[in-house]
Amino acid sequence: MRKLIRGGTVVNASESATADVLVDGETVVGVGRFDGVDAEVIDATGCFVLPGAIDNHTHLSMPFGGTWSADDYDTGTRAAAAGGTTCIVDFALQMHRGGLRSSLEEWMGRAEGAAHVDYGFHMAITNADAATIADMSSMVDEGITSFKVFLAYPNVLMVTDDQYLAVLERARDLEALTMVHCENGHAIAHLVSKALAAGQTDPIHHALTRPETMEAEATGRAVRLAGFAGAPVFVVHVSCKAAADEIIRARAAGARAYGETCIQYLFNSVDDLRRPGFEGARYVCSPPLRDAANQPHLWDALRLDHLQIVSTDHCPFNDEQKRLGLGDFSKIPNGLAAIQHRLPMLWEHGVRAGRLSPNRVVEITSTAVARMFGLERKGWIGAGADADIVVFDPARRHVFSCATSLMNVDYDIYEGREVAGSPRLTLSRGTVVWDDGRICTRPGHGQYVRRAVFDARRL
Ligand SMILES: [Zn+2]
Repeated sequence: MRKLIRGGTVVNASESATADVLVDGETVVGVGRFDGVDAEVIDATGCFVLPGAIDNHTHLSMPFGGTWSADDYDTGTRAAAAGGTTCIVDFALQMHRGGLRSSLEEWMGRAEGAAHVDYGFHMAITNADAATIADMSSMVDEGITSFKVFLAYPNVLMVTDDQYLAVLERARDLEALTMVHCENGHAIAHLVSKALAAGQTDPIHHALTRPETMEAEATGRAVRLAGFAGAPVFVVHVSCKAAADEIIRARAAGARAYGETCIQYLFNSVDDLRRPGFEGARYVCSPPLRDAANQPHLWDALRLDHLQIVSTDHCPFNDEQKRLGLGDFSKIPNGLAAIQHRLPMLWEHGVRAGRLSPNRVVEITSTAVARMFGLERKGWIGAGADADIVVFDPARRHVFSCATSLMNVDYDIYEGREVAGSPRLTLSRGTVVWDDGRICTRPGHGQYVRRAVFDARRL
């Protein structure tokens, strides 16, 4: 069955054009003028036709601090599609010593038959023993071509510098990309102990015990060690100018160092953690939300390609789960619910506010993500690409609210905020997933995507 998306403005990272998009089955077969072809017509007059956004940083059904993130692969990918995201790369987490295979199978099992959009996995290495390092090549064989390590969360997720270096070396040899959470875990643990001993237990102390210096130090260390190893490195969730500057410096020296920020660092600040009652707990994530003075620098870094991607780090917890940290901020589950909100917020405050072109928003939410993480058939609209397409209506007003959110969370961090435009239609491999307020697919439409190895020449 063919579909013709007619009369919209097709926006790719490199150019925009008024054109029709012809889809045959799961694939785009042409972009141009198609009069008189036999196809189901989707009228996109007045709309932007975008390659589906890709979110390379999500945590669906993730165990954290004795609980689980509140969205599974069904609810999380519904919300993704509603927000114009047609592919996610989620984090599988090593749960056992001595290898990665059993953990991957756990994550694959949870996602299988549940997702509404396509998904891949990064593998997070939490125990880089010899057997685990040896197992990395079998992950690449499965299409898992990026590995994440944490320099934070000692005794839970953190790897030490020797382990980090070993992962970098092996990933380099496998042409895989190492992703790194940059905060100095041990130094932060010291600050947390001091704060709790002094009776400082409120959510704001989560931020005060994880200062920018801790992120900048770990970022500098991470990119230096990667440079030493001759390995490419991707710094996840850059939250502040001081950390971005470390990446800028490394890139200027020729390192293959890359980074992302997330929407919450562009649109929220440390003041959200001071909200009355226990509401501040909703905004607890790591690295923490920063002083708003950082935000113009993050926008600049995106504009100048010092940072290449905006993701969400979607890791939702309900109020009741957040209350695990009542009386002890260090026990608040870390994470925000944002998977549905990225594209509408970036369009409003990026494009409409004149900070970024429509092409650059497509690049940082889709094209660069596909290239960074080896999603070869995604990230652009053209013959041969997967028909992952968003019809974005600049006149489809959207009010953020629990009532309009498909995320499985009992509050919305942007409750009451309004944007002028939002996705009217979202297609995943030629199938309409989201049609103006309604999810049309069944769980299981979304398929696992094998990813190609890292290649800096794509970027
Ligand atoms: Zn994360």
